[in-house]
Amino acid sequence: MVELNQDTRHGTLLLSIHDVGPRFANEVDRLRDLLGQVAPADKIALLVVPNHWGEAPITAKTPFASRLREWADAGAEIFVHGWFHKDDTQHTNPYTRLKAQHLTAREGEFVGLTIAEASARMAAGKALLEDICGRSVAGFVAPAWLYSIDTNNALAENGFSLAEDHWRIWHPPSGKVIGRGPVLTWASRSRARIMSSLFVARVMPPMLREARLARLAVHPGDTTIPAIMQSIQRALAALAFDHNIGRYDSLLPADLHPCAS
Ligand SMILES: [Zn+2]
Repeated sequence: MVELNQDTRHGTLLLSIHDVGPRFANEVDRLRDLLGQVAPADKIALLVVPNHWGEAPITAKTPFASRLREWADAGAEIFVHGWFHKDDTQHTNPYTRLKAQHLTAREGEFVGLTIAEASARMAAGKALLEDICGRSVAGFVAPAWLYSIDTNNALAENGFSLAEDHWRIWHPPSGKVIGRGPVLTWASRSRARIMSSLFVARVMPPMLREARLARLAVHPGDTTIPAIMQSIQRALAALAFDHNIGRYDSLLPADLHPCAS
């Protein structure tokens, strides 16, 4: 374990595991173990997909639902992370079509949804996870961090307290940005993407040394590439040396906190 010097640490480090669901139950366990080397369970946010690709539904009273409840009981912040995590929209806008196909391999579920459809999927995800976990969800994060304008409006409508994209964390009901800074993440889809994410993971932690906010996000696919797992471990140690590991909800000012009257 890395020796941490309280006096030299400043800023907050937020950790998250994406694509939590029964489809990737084993991978999520490995990622929780990896992040758990430096962080307690209540400082590892879980981004949960209610029905990954329409093939892995989370349902109440199943073993996976019980595990989710245990993680929430241990204090993990639970975020709704889309519904299907798959972009099944026929895009008419050429810019959106380009973004959907080339940036995310059609994983940007919310990039082209209408406000009605976005809102319906958000409400269903929130209701399902709150029922299983027995508490409010922490917020909503769109798959691939991609939001349409309509999706942004639907977030406020559904009363989510927190949302994030590649560059910001915000409070949807007020639109107030409460954190800024890039997310360090890895891509395992192709050799070129693996190599570029390994490079970024080497150079980014020193660049974030003085940052007030640093974020590290991991995905189930990361567990399939040993070099990525080693890179995550190295970056995690470096970022945790310079920052205090925190919770997303700790960024909310008291007057925006869901518990504020
Ligand atoms: Zn995802």
